[in-house]
Amino acid sequence: MTIRQLPDTLINQIAAGEVVERPASVVKELVENALDAGARRVDIDLEEGGVRLIRIRDDGAGIEPSELPLAVSRHATSKIASLDDLEGVSTLGFRGEALPSIASVSRFALISRRKDAEHGASLEIEGGRIGTVTPKPHPQGTTVEVRDLFFNVPARRKFLKAERTELGHIEEWLRQLALARPDVELRVSHNGKPSRRWKGEGDLLSELRLHEALGEEFARQALHVDHSGAGLRLHGWIGQPAYNRASADQQYFYVNGRAVRDRSVAHAVKQAYADVLFHGRQPAYVLFLELDPRRVDVNVHPAKHEVRFRDARLIHDFVYRTLQAALAETRAGVEPAIAG
Ligand code: ADP
Ligand code: MG
Repeated sequence: MTIRQLPDTLINQIAAGEVVERPASVVKELVENALDAGARRVDIDLEEGGVRLIRIRDDGAGIEPSELPLAVSRHATSKIASLDDLEGVSTLGFRGEALPSIASVSRFALISRRKDAEHGASLEIEGGRIGTVTPKPHPQGTTVEVRDLFFNVPARRKFLKAERTELGHIEEWLRQLALARPDVELRVSHNGKPSRRWKGEGDLLSELRLHEALGEEFARQALHVDHSGAGLRLHGWIGQPAYNRASADQQYFYVNGRAVRDRSVAHAVKQAYADVLFHGRQPAYVLFLELDPRRVDVNVHPAKHEVRFRDARLIHDFVYRTLQAALAETRAGVEPAIAG
């Protein structure tokens, strides 16, 4: 048997297997990049559930023309430079993998202009083959265009679902994001028609976003939670026991602004509701945990859906006690913190 070094394109396509599952994962990575670049507004244009086209345009910091090839190179990132940075990372991205992975399985274009630059520049890649940087007009910020996702990976393409299903996954992910960033405006269009607009109303109106994202029924009865201690802060909204669901479809949990799934935290929430919820029913919640980034490892999985807490037990108990106290107050007949 001969051992050989794999070509870059194939390496990127292998990495894409982990990061790019479907159009929604592309949207996630690209919008996260826009947020990391300080965007205030992000436009998301989709065709055919994102399979035919995903175009994400932001008004963030932009990229130098000379750095465009680096942006699409593997393990190239502007977000960390050392292990110390990694351990305290506060940006959504840091692996330097998304753009090269996505570019290796699509017809890809990156167009950008930095704030004070005279003009923008563009770089096109088709199935991993990199073109040359050419000048191109562009307002300040960045556009990434991803066409024909998986056109060169038939095995992956086969697993894509109907347009409506893929669009549903994208919308669900955007809802997750919109809940965490009420300060950013998101405009979505599908097949040329505006389909959703999340107005960037600022933090004060995050309750409005809650209303838009989870519906009036949830917002009307939700209990506002905001509790700090031991260097932890848990805030957000939880549904009263009477507002319960057949499935876990309205459970949103964020660590330092990143949506994650965490079994220990899910368990703590379940415990807090154990006495007040009918068996088999699920609570609804939108909860944000804030803590020193050094107390949580976000580098657990390429897609970053999971984190590892340094003191998992402490966090479990903190979440449990905070929610239990909030729920006990409602039982005692105390006015909920927000209602109406
Ligand atoms: P990561 O986000 O982990 O750094 P990516 O492959 O997603 O890796 O992006 C590589 C680099 O390209 C980023 O570190 C950033 O410098 C630049 N970049 C990507 N998208 C944008 C954007 N929308 N605006 C500004 N810079 C961007
Ligand atoms: Mg990224």
